[in-house]
Amino acid sequence: MSVFTSVLSCLFSLVLCAPLPVDGEGCRKCEHRGVLLCSNHTEEIHTYEKDVLFCSTVAACEDCAGALLVDCPKCDGGPDDHLIAPRQKEVADWMATHELSKFMERPLPMVETDRYQLLIDTGPLKLNKRKSMDGHLLMHLVARDVMEVERLVAEHYGLVDQSAAVEGETALEASMRRNYSNKMRMWFWSTLEDHQKVMRKYMGNSSTGDFKLLGGRPVFSAWTEKEMATVRGVRSACTHNAAHMLISNLRKPLWVGDIGGGWFDAGSGHWYEYEIHGRSTNYCIEEATVPLEYHGGVWRVALRKWIMKEDTYFLPRLMPMNTGAMTLPEQAICWSFYEWLVLNHQPALPKILEGLKAKQETRAVLKETLGMTVMQAEDAWRAWVVECYPIKGDELREPNQKKKRGRK
Ligand SMILES: [Zn+2]
Ligand SMILES: [Zn+2]
Ligand SMILES: [Zn+2]
Ligand SMILES: [Zn+2]
Repeated sequence: MSVFTSVLSCLFSLVLCAPLPVDGEGCRKCEHRGVLLCSNHTEEIHTYEKDVLFCSTVAACEDCAGALLVDCPKCDGGPDDHLIAPRQKEVADWMATHELSKFMERPLPMVETDRYQLLIDTGPLKLNKRKSMDGHLLMHLVARDVMEVERLVAEHYGLVDQSAAVEGETALEASMRRNYSNKMRMWFWSTLEDHQKVMRKYMGNSSTGDFKLLGGRPVFSAWTEKEMATVRGVRSACTHNAAHMLISNLRKPLWVGDIGGGWFDAGSGHWYEYEIHGRSTNYCIEEATVPLEYHGGVWRVALRKWIMKEDTYFLPRLMPMNTGAMTLPEQAICWSFYEWLVLNHQPALPKILEGLKAKQETRAVLKETLGMTVMQAEDAWRAWVVECYPIKGDELREPNQKKKRGRK
C-alpha cells in the first residue's frame, strides 16, 4: 500500500469510525443518571404514578410534562436522558385522545390503567372531621381500590392474562382472550350540572343520582352529593361499582341483575366493597326514595342473629328477583351467600356466572355447579353463617380467617 493510500484509508476510517457523541456520565447529584425525579410531585405521588399508565394531573406539570423526570441541572446529562422526550410524547398523545375533556371544554383530572379510565373531578374532600385530602391523591387511592377489585375478580374467576393477539382470531375470541371487552369508565363530578351533562350525552338519561350502564361498554357516573362528599364516600362507591362493571363485562358482556341473577349481582357488588373497606354502605337500588341503612354497613353479627330467629327459607324467594327489587337487608343476605361461595366454593364461581349469563335459572345453575338444590344450598350457607360469623365485632371466626389470610 502506498503512503498516500494508507493515509487516505486512515482518514476514511477516522471519519467513519469516529465515536458518536455519547451521553454524559451524570454527576453525584443525579446518581450518574443525568435525570432527577421532578420535584413538583411528592414522594407519595411518585409512588402512586407507578400504578397507572397515564395521569392527566402530572401531564399538566410545567416542568416534566408527565415524564416525572427532569434533566439534572448540575451536569450535562447521563444514560437516562433519552427517557424523557419519548415519554412526554406518549403522554401528549394520550391527552389528545380525551374526548371527555373536549366535550366539557376544560382539562379533567383522569388516570388510565389497563382496565379503567377514571375521572375524579371532586377537588379536595373531607377525610375526617379535621383533615381533608386533595383530589389528585384521592384519584390515585380510587385507582388502587378498583385495581384491587380487579385482582380479586381475576383470582376468583381464574383469569389468566393472555394479552398477545392470536392470528386469525374473531372479535369474540379476542374479547374472550382479553377477558374483558372494554375499559371500565368511572366518572365522579363535583356538581350535579356536570354529572347531568355527561349523563345526557353518554347515557341518554338525566337522573340526578349516580348512574351506571353495565355490560359491553360499562360506564358509571356520580357526583359528590350527600354522603358521597367524603373521601370514604367516593372510594367505596367506586369500589362497589367497579365490581358490578367487571362482572357484567367479564367474558360475555351481559348484566345478570335483571335476567334472574339479581342475587349474584347484588351479592358480588357488596362483597368486593366490604372486603376492601370493611363494610358496605352503597346499595344496588337506583334513585331510592327511602333512606337506606342496615347496621351501618357492618353486617355479620346482624345477619347471624336474623338467620337464627327466622325459620322460613330466604333464598327460594330471593333468587328469581331483580337486583333493583330487593330491599337492603335482602341484598345483605345475597352478600353473605356470595361470601359463602367465595370462601367455600370459589372454583364454582366462573361456572355459576357463565350459567347465569346463559340465562339459566339459578336452581339449575346451583344443581349443576354445587350439586345442591336451592334449599340444600341455603341449609349449608346458614350452617356456615351460624358457625363462622361472630357474636360481636365483625371478624369471621376460624377457620375462615385462616382461609382469607392464606388467600392474601
Ligand atoms: Zn447530574
Ligand atoms: Zn397522578
Ligand atoms: Zn413534574
Ligand atoms: Zn350494587
